[in-house]
Amino acid sequence: MNSKSRRILLIYTGGTIGMVKDYVTSALKAFDFNELLKNIPELKQLDCSIDTVSFDVPIDSSNMSPKDWISIVEIIERHYESHDGFVVLHGSDTMSYTASGLSFLLENLNKPVILTGSQLPIGDLRTDAKENLITSIQIAALHEKGEAIVKEVGLYFEYKLYRGNRTTKINAENFQAFTSLNYPHLIESGVHLNVFKEYLLPIKRGKKFITHKKMDENIAVLKIFPGITQNVLDGMLNIQGLKALILETYGSGNAPTSEWFLKSLESFIKKGIHIINVTQCSGGSVILGHYETSMRLKQMQVVSGKDITTEAAISKAMYMLGSGVGDELFKTVFETPLRGEMH
Ligand code: ASP
Repeated sequence: MNSKSRRILLIYTGGTIGMVKDYVTSALKAFDFNELLKNIPELKQLDCSIDTVSFDVPIDSSNMSPKDWISIVEIIERHYESHDGFVVLHGSDTMSYTASGLSFLLENLNKPVILTGSQLPIGDLRTDAKENLITSIQIAALHEKGEAIVKEVGLYFEYKLYRGNRTTKINAENFQAFTSLNYPHLIESGVHLNVFKEYLLPIKRGKKFITHKKMDENIAVLKIFPGITQNVLDGMLNIQGLKALILETYGSGNAPTSEWFLKSLESFIKKGIHIINVTQCSGGSVILGHYETSMRLKQMQVVSGKDITTEAAISKAMYMLGSGVGDELFKTVFETPLRGEMH
């Protein structure tokens, strides 16, 4: 495995990695991409050529929306033939959402798309940005017999490459900001880059790369809590135009068994709103019917999110609704792994 002659596209969207302190307010704000590159002369030593594209206005990832995911898709699409791999520099706050969104929007991906960022700006003496960026580029350039080794959307942070749609941001302080509790990491960076090939998505031979550009945002997320009232549930379900509700339940998919709660959910399912059950736990899976407290949910055809993250459930629902998956097929398709996002 070497990276000679690989051509990598670096896509800068914003995030702490390229931020500077505002002199007046001392808040961190995004700055110019060329300044960022000046801070990493090491990039010239890498064994691959690097081209760069930047969002016109780099953003804090709290401002990322599905429209921005589609802008990234369009950049990748324009450079798909000319480049061997893609590295997306992105704020860490919503990086798992974007990684999940991109995994659905980029179908039959045969090249690496690696998202990375940092907890400290690149100009900071103790920055984690350099290692994250340099290793992400090296991973994007990894190849064997002319073919890319990673053929999926990954997220690289603090020595580990994860499947992007399996990740969650768990820490706003530590350099190890992400985890993937339901799926092992794909690569570990030590003295060598250790690739765990058995965990990578398999090759999609003969399948054409397809980009999708429609996300339907008519969804909502409700985390249930002890004391939740009917007003709250009905308020959510009565949102005009709502097509799917992601219900964050307890443990392995359990929820209150009060009649008002179950009746409300049932009446909305009958109206055609998809109720998707994901767990509030960071790890583990929804198993409908495992406890009595999820039996009725199973009977009323609530969709099982299995071991999907909330981040991936949101983008999967938007992607499926945007692609026009019909009501009759919605449950079956959602419960099927499309990009390795669930078991
Ligand atoms: N607020 C920043 C962002 O998500 C945090 C970061 O980049 O780590 O854009």
